[in-house]
Amino acid sequence: MAVPFRRTSKTKKRMRRTHQKLEVEGLVACKNCGATIKAHNICPECGYYDGKKVLETKKAKAKEEKPAEKPAKAKSK
Ligand SMILES: [Zn+2]
Repeated sequence: MAVPFRRTSKTKKRMRRTHQKLEVEGLVACKNCGATIKAHNICPECGYYDGKKVLETKKAKAKEEKPAEKPAKAKSK
């Protein structure tokens, strides 16, 4: 039986094993807000699908309301 000439170094072993990893598939960036979402699904952050708004989400509503409050505070100063 063939026997390895040298023991594989820690570095060589670790370099080889950097490719042995699990990868999450089917995740894409939302075209509207850039959030990481499942492919072919409505974005839970902004409610967009394929560039069109199809859902009114609580998170999107909260984001729309918050920017409106900030300029009001700036005016009072
Ligand atoms: Zn989105």
